[in-house]
Amino acid sequence: MMKYDVIIIGAGPAGLSFACSLANTSLRVLVLDSSPLKSIENPTEDGREIALTHASLDSMREIGAWQHIDKDDVAPICAAKVFDGDSAYSLSFDNDQADLEALGYLVPNHIIRQALYKAVKPLSNVTLRCDSQVTDLASCESHAWVELSDERIECDLLVSADSRFSQTRRKMGIAASMNDFSRSAIVCRMTHSLPHHQTALECFHYGRTLAVLPMQGNKSSIVVTVSSDEAESIQRLSDEQFSSDIQQRLKGQLGDMQLAGVRHLYPLVGVHAKRFISQRFAVIGDAAVGMHPVTAHGFNLGLRSQQTLANEIIKAIEKGTDIGSMQLLERYQRKHMLSTRPMYHGTNLVVGLFTNDTFGAKVARKMTMRLANNLAPLKKAITAKLTEKNVPFFMKLPGLR
Ligand SMILES: Cc1cc2nc3c(=O)[nH]c(=O)nc-3n(C[C@H](O)[C@H](O)[C@H](O)COP(=O)(O)OP(=O)(O)OC[C@H]3O[C@@H](n4cnc5c(N)ncnc54)[C@H](O)[C@@H]3O)c2cc1C
Repeated sequence: MMKYDVIIIGAGPAGLSFACSLANTSLRVLVLDSSPLKSIENPTEDGREIALTHASLDSMREIGAWQHIDKDDVAPICAAKVFDGDSAYSLSFDNDQADLEALGYLVPNHIIRQALYKAVKPLSNVTLRCDSQVTDLASCESHAWVELSDERIECDLLVSADSRFSQTRRKMGIAASMNDFSRSAIVCRMTHSLPHHQTALECFHYGRTLAVLPMQGNKSSIVVTVSSDEAESIQRLSDEQFSSDIQQRLKGQLGDMQLAGVRHLYPLVGVHAKRFISQRFAVIGDAAVGMHPVTAHGFNLGLRSQQTLANEIIKAIEKGTDIGSMQLLERYQRKHMLSTRPMYHGTNLVVGLFTNDTFGAKVARKMTMRLANNLAPLKKAITAKLTEKNVPFFMKLPGLR
């Protein structure tokens, strides 16, 4: 029977980055994905533009993936403005407040995935098997295993990175709290005649949210969040109707706007697993925590999850202890719960406050915006969280990084 030290289920951004993090170890790693190789080595554009924090950038560099990203595909986000309703008043953040070159960097998701594949491909200790549907999995005290259609493979540690709707998490008996926002995001790229000055706009219009993220040149990523039934009717608009609607909603701030490419639709469901571990088993990436995209933290947290788990494994190798022990897994779970719970519930609170159009909620968000704008320490703290330049105080405690 075939045996590996670590089996990773899912060759998405979380699974591949975890494999890269184990590159300089003696571990034999198998990555399984149900999709064909061509969709992993050459992923197609999916409309997602990922806003990476500085910490994520460092992490991508460390695992050897950033080197595979063409800098023409990276756009700095130097400022961000939040608008509420029709008001011209905005809550603004800029890189001066953070003493950084940029608040974050926007990179297309398919470019990140391709770079991670290029980083994994030459690794001699990592095997990638595509078209591999996991039909069953289980674990006991001494090992874990997966069943494919025609074989069973064992390992010391089994890690699932198979998306927020992870079937393997469910099979291992891990419950998750799911928040169906009953809203969908339409994402696409648009060109415009006026420059964006590398400024991201988040407009909480009544009934819908419009986010505009600066790409290279006069091009932006557009994210329209609306109720799921309205999303379907927006998808039926012609390209011209859609473009002119967005242009009007932005009150011409970006001049004439044209749709560039396809409009992608994503139903929005937030997921937080109740536990991240079981015997010789852990979940990482969206399988652990699937965020609402409004705070742009999904993959940033995914990168952190794999890094936290990999660091624990590397420490165990150095000490000569079991890489699948419950003590190791519990340390991973404790650290990742600490960093994701506040972010997950905080994001859901923001979504609740900014998508609730009752009179009370409108007053509350106007007050929140003015308070945040006028209280310098609060604004600095929000900016630090956005950029992840400074880690929260509890993450600085010994043993927590
Ligand atoms: C509109 C939108 C905008 C976003 N913007 C941002 C942003 O600005 N910043 C940010 O940090 N994040 C953002 N995100 C979130 C980010 O895209 C996700 O967090 C990230 O893609 C999750 O990666 P993952 O590897 O955990 O899962 P996935 O990307 O879902 O990959 C899962 C992999 O597992 C495989 N798989 C599934 N089931 C099986 C199985 N049974 N057996 C084998 N393989 C399996 C799949 O084929 C796939 O390759 C955004 C998301 C959306 C929808």
